Amino acid sequence: MTPPERDPLSLPNPSPQFGRYAPSPSGRLHVGNLRTALVAWLTARSSDRGFLVRIEDLDPDRSHTAVADQQLEDLASIGLDWDTEPIHQSERDNAYSGALARLDAAGLVYPCWCTRAELASAAPHDPQRPYAGKCRGLNDAERAERQARANRPPSLRVSLGDVEVSWNDLLMGSQSGVSSDPVVRRADGVFAYHLAVVVDDAAQNVDQVVRGDDLSDSVPTQAALYDALGLPRPTWGHVPLVVESDGTRLAKRERSVTLARWGDDGTALAKLGASLGLCGPEDSDVTAADLRTNFHLASVPREPWVLDRPF
Ligand code: GLU
Repeated sequence: MTPPERDPLSLPNPSPQFGRYAPSPSGRLHVGNLRTALVAWLTARSSDRGFLVRIEDLDPDRSHTAVADQQLEDLASIGLDWDTEPIHQSERDNAYSGALARLDAAGLVYPCWCTRAELASAAPHDPQRPYAGKCRGLNDAERAERQARANRPPSLRVSLGDVEVSWNDLLMGSQSGVSSDPVVRRADGVFAYHLAVVVDDAAQNVDQVVRGDDLSDSVPTQAALYDALGLPRPTWGHVPLVVESDGTRLAKRERSVTLARWGDDGTALAKLGASLGLCGPEDSDVTAADLRTNFHLASVPREPWVLDRPF
């Protein structure tokens, strides 16, 4: 399939279209990440889409080339394939600058000097902390005063307003939420997640975003960002996370449940497939293509998968 790179801000979207998996290379993938990647691959392949992997290495302090290489190796080792060379977000500043310029020309970009402490105190009970708008709508004098007081460069936010967004999630059904003003460029000049993911998915013709359900809260803001950029929204599907038997979420940290600890003996794909009801956990000969034959989105469990639960 032809690599889909194109100008993200041009319309309309040519086919073919893609699903994707887009890990941040901050730590080795755990089995929950691999299971989500498998569902993304199965959903894309069984809907006649291409499939991409993208390296989301925006944050220089938390991204490691060796980790990205290991992630690709782990994805390939459970039988996933992708149709084009993975792109790296760390090499995409031109695309993000272009999108930022478009938002700026529409009068939507504003500087924000809020500190972490200010953000936390504005929304102490909300872990997602929708931006309360302290730096939105400041006049020139107020900006100069904030700048003098902060004595450091501002981050940049996009004014999206509090837009009520509803979407039909491929896995979770009817959902809704309210957008917030995202940071699109951090104070240190690094472009931020919401802008990069929207620009890249549009640039790569990704019209089907299947990912972990810890990211479903970001849909309203990303939907509003697609709208602000004049880009068509994709379809979203959020896969329930994997939890340990005591209910804690897996995280990409040391001692997490990675392939090295869980399925290096070639049993990982069967165990992941079994968790999706697609094969037995002992079917050590099963291939990703076999799972694809049996796959139906409707049969993906809607509950978190408890690891170590006996099959
Ligand atoms: N890079 C994000 C992560 O590793 C995923 C972003 C997305 O799928 O939208 O959690």
